[in-house]
Amino acid sequence: TSDAKTGQGFKGHAMLAPFTPGWQTTDLDPLIIEKSEGSYVYDINGKKYLDSLAGLWCTALGGSEQRLVDAANAQLKKLPFYHSFWNRTTKPTLDLAKELLEFFTARKMAKAFFVNSGSEANDTQVKIVWYYYNALGKPNKKKFIARTKSYHGSTTIAASLSGLSPLHQKFDLPAPFVLHTDCPHYWRYHLPGETEEEFSTRLAKNLEELILKEGPETIAAFIAEPVMGAGGVILPPATYFDKIQAVVKKYDILFIADEVICAFGRLGTMFGSDKYNIKPDLVSLAKALSSGYLPIGAILVSPEIAEVIHSQSSKLGSFSHGFTYSGSPVPCAVALEALKIYKERNIVAVVNKIAPRFQDGLKAFSDSPIIGEIRGTGLILATEFADNKSPNDPFPPEWGVGAYFGAQCQKRGMLVRVAGDLIMMSPPFIISPEEVDELISIYGKALRETEKRVQE
Ligand code: PLP
Repeated sequence: TSDAKTGQGFKGHAMLAPFTPGWQTTDLDPLIIEKSEGSYVYDINGKKYLDSLAGLWCTALGGSEQRLVDAANAQLKKLPFYHSFWNRTTKPTLDLAKELLEFFTARKMAKAFFVNSGSEANDTQVKIVWYYYNALGKPNKKKFIARTKSYHGSTTIAASLSGLSPLHQKFDLPAPFVLHTDCPHYWRYHLPGETEEEFSTRLAKNLEELILKEGPETIAAFIAEPVMGAGGVILPPATYFDKIQAVVKKYDILFIADEVICAFGRLGTMFGSDKYNIKPDLVSLAKALSSGYLPIGAILVSPEIAEVIHSQSSKLGSFSHGFTYSGSPVPCAVALEALKIYKERNIVAVVNKIAPRFQDGLKAFSDSPIIGEIRGTGLILATEFADNKSPNDPFPPEWGVGAYFGAQCQKRGMLVRVAGDLIMMSPPFIISPEEVDELISIYGKALRETEKRVQE
């Protein structure tokens, strides 16, 4: 039987732990998912689960959008593969680039570069930035500043940019050119009596001190998720990004917005950059770009960077970077259809209509004695369990409070993401009011069971 206090009995849920390598799950009695329908998935025994994380923050249009399936099939029949090297490409690749540049209105972007994942997008960002500074004759600008608790992916460089210790420990990471600055989590990190405004000012000052200590001429770029996702759905204070952007600009440092989770409506704005008035030089996209149906990521590049790379590429040699499947026609056709649907259905309005029911319904549990904080916006939310409602009093990890809650949800037909005592949710944008009510009802029952266990 399950035991929240010893952490025993959660064998089947260890796969929900953060960063458990996929290859281990077969040894761990995995939950095998076979079918999806709207906001639900089904396991091989036919049990139905409300998928509160949209797969892995990605199936924005749910698990059975026929138009995406048809787009893939039509493209598979016509041209299953062609590459985008040596000035050759395909029509869906070009159309998607054009469409994405029109979608991103937070500032004008000039070029798109396609990859297969968010990790590849962020790896590629590093090479674009290095190439750009080499072209400008500033080869010393090599370092990247990211933030503690950020998640930017799992490849060597993307894991280095990430600010989560399990991604670094035992891997000899981060790479030496990556520095980390503060996580903007007010609840956890503010000083006694410090307002959100003062907290943001302090963090911007710390960033400036780090830049000055390292030498501004050595810092290439700053990378940030508008809302941190995997690190625990961490929303920045309202003026945080204004202050950070002012510092970054002052020292001629590029701003990379990692929009892999936030883009296409998740926060109730088309992009996270829209919500926080971020004017990035480079943008990383993936996940909801194809509603998760096929692997595809993209990088958007500002006109200034594109201009330098293009005007200098004959001098430096071509920008020798790309993957066999960069801009492959089938994922591009699916992404194009997803963007068409986002536009036709006014996806931002769809998210904003359902979001209050989801946010208010869950935040009503904030007064639970075992919950430290419930935080979220749009269709993304995290619950953090803590003793005494304090970030300084986590429950002993061996109690497995988060795992117990996750198991209770799963038993009742809902999948959540568990990371220690953090529970994360980011349902599909198409979730109905009745499904939100079901989600809240299961959450409430699982919470009451977990409270009982903790108090035993
Ligand atoms: N960036 C962010 C913000 C992410 O949330 C993720 C994945 O969760 C990544 C990058 C990495 O994307 P992928 O898993 O597609 O490589």
